[in-house]
Amino acid sequence: MKSLLIDTTKCVGCLECVGACKRANNLPEGDTEELSWKTYTVVKEFKGIYVRKLCMHCSNPSCASVCPVGALHKTSAGPVVYDEDKCIGCRYCMVACPFSVPKYEWSNPLPRIRKCIFCAERLAKGLQTACAEACQYGATTFGDREALLEEGRSRIEAEPDKYINQIYGENEVGGTSTMFLAGVSFSELGFRTDLAKDPMPMLTWKVLSMIPDIVIMGGVIMGGIAWLTNRKNEVSLHELMEKDKEKSLNKKDSK
Ligand code: SF4
Ligand code: SF4
Ligand code: SF4
Repeated sequence: MKSLLIDTTKCVGCLECVGACKRANNLPEGDTEELSWKTYTVVKEFKGIYVRKLCMHCSNPSCASVCPVGALHKTSAGPVVYDEDKCIGCRYCMVACPFSVPKYEWSNPLPRIRKCIFCAERLAKGLQTACAEACQYGATTFGDREALLEEGRSRIEAEPDKYINQIYGENEVGGTSTMFLAGVSFSELGFRTDLAKDPMPMLTWKVLSMIPDIVIMGGVIMGGIAWLTNRKNEVSLHELMEKDKEKSLNKKDSK
């Protein structure tokens, strides 16, 4: 399974990864402070230490497990990908993600969930992720998960005074494909350190099994309404465009 190892001791905060991600995913420029529908990765500063934020590509993603229509899924290659045609806009994934990653296109009349998709298309072509390719400082490394874990352990062993003895993502929520090394405790770098080693979907289903069916049905109905509203907007837009086309054809004919 392909993964990323992000070494916060090597990152200089140059933002090349952020720019490369935007170019690779045709995202608009700007808004590089927080994750949003137009920014799939950001670099945060914690007392002079730079820390990337992006989807963790969990081995057992809770975003996928709560999606009632299977719009998100983990691929065997590593990426957790998203199918906008299936999405009904219920936004359960946003609530379920322990890392607050998925964002919603509030400003778009046909909104989608947006997040890092681990450059799935590039991976399918045998390429590495755009962010790893852009990093000139060895702070973001792409490779097989096992090899990256080995690499992380060797760096820690070679320089025990420089690194703390932990690879974040090795075990958190059952393991992730985005992993981090650090020189100070992860809690000081804004990481959640209260997460269990169990995959979150296990917890999710435990919780869901306690919620009465009527509440879940309510959510699905709300999602369905959102989907229908989106479709209605889509159809209206299409009709307007067709009318426009017709008008310009009529104008041409009358000349
Ligand atoms: S390109 Fe590398 S060094 Fe630059 S901000 Fe991104 S991870 Fe850090
Ligand atoms: S970090 Fe969040 S959005 Fe990314 S795979 Fe895990 S649960 Fe899903
Ligand atoms: S893996 Fe691809 S989509 Fe994800 S942050 Fe890196 S460049 Fe962006």
